[in-house]
Amino acid sequence: MPENTDRILRAELSGSMVRVMLIDNTNMAAEAMSIHEMSHVAAAASGRIMAATSMISAMLKESGSSVTVTFSGNGPIGKIQCVGAEGYCRIAMDNPAAELPLRSNGKLPVSDAVGKTGKLSVVKDIGLKTPYIGQCELVSGEIAEDFAMYFTVSEQQPSLVALGVLVAENCVIKSGGIIVQPLPGCPDGVIEQLELRSQLFSQISRELAEYSLEELLENSFRGLEPKVLGTQPVGYRCGCTRERMERALVSLGRKELDEMIAERKDIDMACHFCRRLCHFTPSELQKLREYAVKKEDSESKG
Ligand SMILES: [Zn+2]
Repeated sequence: MPENTDRILRAELSGSMVRVMLIDNTNMAAEAMSIHEMSHVAAAASGRIMAATSMISAMLKESGSSVTVTFSGNGPIGKIQCVGAEGYCRIAMDNPAAELPLRSNGKLPVSDAVGKTGKLSVVKDIGLKTPYIGQCELVSGEIAEDFAMYFTVSEQQPSLVALGVLVAENCVIKSGGIIVQPLPGCPDGVIEQLELRSQLFSQISRELAEYSLEELLENSFRGLEPKVLGTQPVGYRCGCTRERMERALVSLGRKELDEMIAERKDIDMACHFCRRLCHFTPSELQKLREYAVKKEDSESKG
């Protein structure tokens, strides 16, 4: 793996009237592509989703918080789930090998692969008893427009979102994005300026291949007093443990575990997000079955 240069840059414009986040998540997107052996179009969709999820998770101030983003579209990729915590992400999808022909303009048909109808859900766990759940219908399956709609509908926060991934020869050349959010009280003149400049981000992955995050900020928002507030490293991280796999097995329930034990064979469970294998013997499965029985009994007692 090449050195991880992924990072998020936070900035503000017009004396804190506008919040800006920029991300370069090229390594993250490349690692996801290689772990899941993705097609080009799946890598493009996943790089975009991870860029946004990473930025949303970095907006959460409570330590230990996380965000789970799910795209349930009607395209051949199927359900896509991405989890982000402090900028670090993991992703999984039903069909990462889904392949579609390029559009006539040479672009990857991301919206066809994700699906133009379906739902986007964003679940934020900030350590409270119940997580914050936001949901909206997909606008186009192009990902950035869908996140923009989510921010407007679920968070009442109008946002400019641009996301892009450059894929060639089975590798991610560049992946990144930007979220621009005018805060309450932002003058109309500034909002007009932001709308004018939104076109600058229509090819953001190409821009990022040429310029650093700082240069892109400076070039795009000249005259709006761009000010860097800080940067943070981000990347692909699963963080799965044997305990998490055990919990997943227990949650399968007694019936399913009985079937596995009856086969009297060792099993290898693969993590959904990083494909790491965890080995279980029949006697270990038997122990987990006992937990599952206890859990089911206590649940049935209410
Ligand atoms: Zn894992």
